[in-house]
Amino acid sequence: MDSLDKKFPHLPERLKGLGELAFNLWWSWHPAARMVFKRLDRRAWKDTRHNPVKLLTVLPPPILEAAAQDPEYLRHYDSVLAHFRRDVENQVCWFTANVTEAECEPIAYFSLEYGLHHSLPFYAGGLGFLAGDHLKEASDLGTPLVAVGFMYPDGYLRQMINPDGWQEGADEHLDRDAAPISRVYNDQGEQIVVQVPVTEPPIFVSVWKVMVGRITLYLMDTDIEANDPGHRGISNHLYISDLEQRLLQEIVLGLGGTEVLAALGIKHSVLHMNEGHPAFALLERLRERIEERQMTYADAFKEVKATSVFTTHTPVPAGHDVFPFDMIDRYFGHYCSRLGLSRDDFFNLGRNPADPNAGFNMTAFALRLSDYHNGVSARHGEVSRKMWQPLWPDRPEDQVPIISITNGVHVPTWIAPKMELLFNQYLGAGWLERHDDPALWELLDDIPSQEFWAVHCRLKDKLIDRIRERARRRWADYQINCCNVVAGGAMLDPTILTLGFARRFATYKRADLVFHDLERLKKILLSPWQPVQIIFAGKAHPADDPGKLLLQRVFNFARDAELGGRIAFVEDYGEQLAQHLIHGVDVWLNNPLPPLEACGTSGMKASLNGLPQLSILDGWWIEGFNGGNGWAFGADAGDDRDAQDAAAIYDILEQQVVPLYYKTDEAGIPQDWVKLMKNAIKSTAARFSARRMVKEYVQKCYQEALDFSMK
Ligand SMILES: *Cc1c(COP(=O)(O)O)cnc(C)c1O
Repeated sequence: MDSLDKKFPHLPERLKGLGELAFNLWWSWHPAARMVFKRLDRRAWKDTRHNPVKLLTVLPPPILEAAAQDPEYLRHYDSVLAHFRRDVENQVCWFTANVTEAECEPIAYFSLEYGLHHSLPFYAGGLGFLAGDHLKEASDLGTPLVAVGFMYPDGYLRQMINPDGWQEGADEHLDRDAAPISRVYNDQGEQIVVQVPVTEPPIFVSVWKVMVGRITLYLMDTDIEANDPGHRGISNHLYISDLEQRLLQEIVLGLGGTEVLAALGIKHSVLHMNEGHPAFALLERLRERIEERQMTYADAFKEVKATSVFTTHTPVPAGHDVFPFDMIDRYFGHYCSRLGLSRDDFFNLGRNPADPNAGFNMTAFALRLSDYHNGVSARHGEVSRKMWQPLWPDRPEDQVPIISITNGVHVPTWIAPKMELLFNQYLGAGWLERHDDPALWELLDDIPSQEFWAVHCRLKDKLIDRIRERARRRWADYQINCCNVVAGGAMLDPTILTLGFARRFATYKRADLVFHDLERLKKILLSPWQPVQIIFAGKAHPADDPGKLLLQRVFNFARDAELGGRIAFVEDYGEQLAQHLIHGVDVWLNNPLPPLEACGTSGMKASLNGLPQLSILDGWWIEGFNGGNGWAFGADAGDDRDAQDAAAIYDILEQQVVPLYYKTDEAGIPQDWVKLMKNAIKSTAARFSARRMVKEYVQKCYQEALDFSMK
């Protein structure tokens, strides 16, 4: 605890626990814990962008001393700290009660990105939030898990749209010492530096950690002096376009990450790879068994397979990482002989039979070396079985051993705090502990419509206030032109039916689909009595020009006076804006080109907060849609897919969504709409929760793999 004293020298003895709490993201999914920081100074909380480490550093000592004397604050503080200790230290949990009481080595979870909180910008999109939610839920269930990833010190793109609607990015440099991460030290009190096997000159990583409840996430950082200048940037950015740098990044993730765990003395029994990027970790698992435990290759292979879990996320062949064999050879030429493998044997492990000369395919490699593989929705499971059938030539497609475990979202993280308060009242205290019990959600019917609707309206007001405040600030700070102030959402009206569309601007997501027939859209948006507005947000990958063009097209519609200020494009989509949008719009719009959305999780977050989906039948919505929780279209593909899908959206809006939304009783409450909202929650809160998902991973993969490892 010495280092905490140094970090927060002004923290009074009585409030010492705040220091520890600040470094554990547990606070972020417990509203009372958020409040224990926020109430110290609301303005400073906002100014530090909800980063308690920074907050405790900048607060003037008298504020902290006053809090330490305030009996009411102390009561709050004591109850939060007691809850925190109970959760983090308690030995009794779902895992020990249902899986095994025996002490077991943790599952090592590897992912290139983690979306945990906006103060830790180590994510690009859905894959990262899925990983973040997995860790939080694993903590809540007490699943023994240790996680490995990267810290991206320059990795976060702050999105700025220039006057022509073109996305420009400014990298935001992370101040490591103000972020809620801490250095990992060795016995001599120096920050740990680990050498990554394989490369010449060697690559070194320094190690940081983030506490996520009971779970520790180790983050590697290559931006240190020990490294060659060419290697320092390996961990700077997510999804580097340069192929060789990307290979190096994946070498560091898989091999380096395994080495980091070994250097820290953390033995792990089972490996879970979130997507193919960390698959080189499998090699270290083989090498360790062959070199250090003198196992034969065949035995090592069998054991590694029986204890490795691989989740694939990509439904298009081009989305999987493939590295040319000569590039692989340059880095692994020596390594494969240590495994007793010839170069060809090694290449064959990563060969995709459907395209055998393309190079070393990380997904094919991960599939060959793991016994447990899954896609992330029922449909994506089917697509993956079809795509990878050539790896199992003697099996028909439907017997290819790739199962599906549909993604879920961490309920305490994504539920609006105001909804949570409402549920506390009607679902009974402790509902959060039972949130994956579908029967619990029938109690939603007890909430009076006007109370439920009032909460939704407050969330919508808050969203639109925030957006207007952003637009005002952009106007004041950068003197952007008036059209762009309008485009940024200055004219949004909280009384109007509001659609939300927020996600990465990858072209397959077809952000501009709704503009396909402009005249028809205009009629819907500008209806004098029942108008509609749409809020867009999202970033394009900096190297994705088609994505940026798409964004520009949408932005220009937002600036177009003919659309009457009914379209907004809000810049700089990230976790914070996502929270406001999924809490506060009325309908969540989703129209990717099927079957390219493997799952889609933003819709689950929205549905959890009562937003009906207007969505194409793809990804999770094929499982989620039940006829009473939103609208579905696009089941069959025709020739002119865009025109047909757009027409379906207009039809549904005109005939169903708009009339239902504006149909209110004498008190102004849209009774039928509220019923729809409640149905949305009932159909998602349990079934598409990260709790259901993590339990499924435990029951279908981890448990057996753990049993094998303990034999
Ligand atoms: C949930 C989330 C995503 C993933 O959304 P998809 O629907 O899967 O595209 C992306 N970004 C942020 C900030 C999120 O919170």
